[in-house]
Amino acid sequence: MSEARMKANVLKILASPAIRHINFRISGNHIYNERFKKLAVAIKVGLVGFTVLKDTQAKGRYFHQPNILMLNETIGASGTISNRLQQTVVHECFHAICDMEMLEGISPTQEETCGYIAMAIYEKYHFGKSQYKKDHPMTAMLATLKGNPGYELQGDAAFGDLYQRAYEMYSKNNSGWGRDSNIHDGL
Ligand SMILES: [Zn+2]
Repeated sequence: MSEARMKANVLKILASPAIRHINFRISGNHIYNERFKKLAVAIKVGLVGFTVLKDTQAKGRYFHQPNILMLNETIGASGTISNRLQQTVVHECFHAICDMEMLEGISPTQEETCGYIAMAIYEKYHFGKSQYKKDHPMTAMLATLKGNPGYELQGDAAFGDLYQRAYEMYSKNNSGWGRDSNIHDGL
């Protein structure tokens, strides 16, 4: 594992054309390609640090003070990165964007849910299909994503439904989920 390789692998994930399909609005904040590009630049110039996550329960974590991506050590390995870990990187990068751009009006629960949606969009367009089993709720959720429509959480029934399903799916097994104070202090 090397930090340089960790960084290079994260940048490779952010450069995927699949990132261009992430396009939705939440509480007036437009979450789209440009924000991920901006994060990639911040990573390139060293504004985001990298560290190996020792906690074996999680694959990734973003820590706002200092701006640091804590990732499973295999992200720094030379071989291929597992699909699940690639998705985790997209999820954690979304947290990094919320922090570094000091996005306002997004509750911790909304942020967590939208992180999962960003990661599901990446999955669909990077791998071309769901990596989950046919009966997994994520598979049904991904089937509802079409093209690059620019979802709107407020007033968009399709996106609202997707959001609700993502929220229910991930909150089911974790009562403390989305309740972190999630301070966003910017760069
Ligand atoms: Zn998260």
